[in-house]
Amino acid sequence: MVKLAEWQGKAVFRKYGVPLPQGEVAHSSDEAEALVREGKVSLPCVIKAQVLAGGRGKGGAVRFANSPEEVRAAATAILGLDFKGETVRELLLEEKLPIGRELYVAMTLDRSRRLPLLMVSARGGVEIESVADEEIDRQTVDPFPGLTGYEKRRAAKALGLAGPPVRSLEELLDSLWRVFQQEDAELVEINPLAVVGDGLVALDAKVIIEDDAAFRHPEYAEVRDDRTELEEIAREKEIAFVQLDGNIGVIANGAGLTMATLDVLKELGGAPGVFLDLGGTDDPKKVTEAFLLMARAKPAAVFLNIFGGITRCDTVAKGLVEAMRQVPAADRFPLVARIRGNNEAEGIAILRAAGVTAVPDLRESAKAAVEAARRRL
Ligand code: GDP
Ligand code: MN
Repeated sequence: MVKLAEWQGKAVFRKYGVPLPQGEVAHSSDEAEALVREGKVSLPCVIKAQVLAGGRGKGGAVRFANSPEEVRAAATAILGLDFKGETVRELLLEEKLPIGRELYVAMTLDRSRRLPLLMVSARGGVEIESVADEEIDRQTVDPFPGLTGYEKRRAAKALGLAGPPVRSLEELLDSLWRVFQQEDAELVEINPLAVVGDGLVALDAKVIIEDDAAFRHPEYAEVRDDRTELEEIAREKEIAFVQLDGNIGVIANGAGLTMATLDVLKELGGAPGVFLDLGGTDDPKKVTEAFLLMARAKPAAVFLNIFGGITRCDTVAKGLVEAMRQVPAADRFPLVARIRGNNEAEGIAILRAAGVTAVPDLRESAKAAVEAARRRL
């Protein structure tokens, strides 16, 4: 996923005529202070951490300053901060506008209806996940005519706008639509969109470019995203690997089984950590590679849930046993396996011979994994 930082999203917005506060990027408190001293950013100003996680306002990663000294102090406080697991290395300094209401506007994709979706809410400035469903107005958009006058007027009404700001909203929605289409975005979100006098200004920008369209946008090739270091390695090896907060590693095959396995562990009081989807592979080399990557995430225990359809249980088992041998002794962890299907008996025998707890029943084996992880805490 190509997630643009706020300042990058705003650079895109600027190209399409979305109204923005005047702003500059800084990488040090010296640079931040100089920007206001030289008048490149006017006072009072806003200092914003450029991290991909939301909730910066509440989390102390958005600050206000009235003097160059305050700018320096705020920049010093934010730079280097660990914000939801991401270190702050960049700041965006912007003029502080006298804002009226804060609105929410976004264009995304309704995947079940296979249509672009315009979402607006008069409850901007808070995370959209916490806004009640009835307070969000949703309209699917036919991609061929694009946004129509009717849709724009309905959005204005839902936002409680009347008079001159309606015209501003219509222009802004046209720009938003063009960003969404021409940049192949899967999400373009402005939260808050602030009412400033008769106009509207995008105070924040969240832009996510659709992965499958990346080949059309070489300009985004260098954009950092929120993959962890291990996820990045996995991506290069084409292994489906995701790091969560828990301590139980999960290896399964197929997205559905992988998700169900996470659910079962959670239900039994476990905390899934890394999960790894072997997909259709039973290539022992690939299994070994995936397993070694899992070991690097240092799980307290690993739960293996394999259904042998295309994949053969015995070849997966062989790959795993081989991989386990390669994990340094200090990094070893208990492994619990539930392995069913094609060549199941052979698979179980191979695993048991290698000292792996292999139980065919899902709940029983998941419970064993949860307990194994708990014992290691
Ligand atoms: P987020 O919390 O990570 O989404 O960060 P935002 O960019 O949305 O900023 C959080 C909040 O800071 C906004 O909801 C505004 O209330 C406030 N804020 C940001 N820029 C300005 C500004 O120029 N003027 C004023 N008055 N408030 C601002
Ligand atoms: Mn925001």
